[in-house]
Amino acid sequence: MAVRVFSHDNVSLVHSAKNLLATQGIEGQIRNEFHGGGGHVGLNIVPIELWVVDDQESERAKQLLKELASEGADQKPSWLCQRCGETNWASFDLCWNCQAERVSQ
Ligand SMILES: [Zn+2]
Repeated sequence: MAVRVFSHDNVSLVHSAKNLLATQGIEGQIRNEFHGGGGHVGLNIVPIELWVVDDQESERAKQLLKELASEGADQKPSWLCQRCGETNWASFDLCWNCQAERVSQ
């Protein structure tokens, strides 16, 4: 049974989180990415959700995301990829989307 482990209205961060879990061998699933509400997009922000497919992995996933979030909040901001413009977690050295190297500013 799938378990929701993370949600955010920034789709890029949710993708980054999914990528992080993938590096740990945890299969994630993104939901609400394309809000099919029909005409109400922009009025309501629907958080993008990250679910873990295997509920036995959910606690480990939550712990990883918690560490990631606290690291990002306390120390380094997330960064924008210079090549494709995606948002990456501070702990990433390569863009999750295009694998471009992080450029320090
Ligand atoms: Zn990129």
